[in-house]
Amino acid sequence: MKKPEPIVTRVIDNRITDAECSACGETLEMPDTVGSRQEQELALEIAFAKHLQSKHPTKPREDVNQAAARIVREATQKLG
Ligand SMILES: [Zn+2]
Repeated sequence: MKKPEPIVTRVIDNRITDAECSACGETLEMPDTVGSRQEQELALEIAFAKHLQSKHPTKPREDVNQAAARIVREATQKLG
């Protein structure tokens, strides 16, 4: 599956007001009030993090570390 990432669908005055998820196309829940450009970017980040958590939960961190350790091990074995 495609890696989910936020797609900005509407920008007003350089401020992100609407965005959706690239993986499922769901609209991300942005606050009703529009803040500064930075605030909007932060709001998008938070909205997307929440969306990921509920719709596309990633593997626990341990799994990532184990996978990394395995890759390193395999690479090392090839060298030997
Ligand atoms: Zn999604």
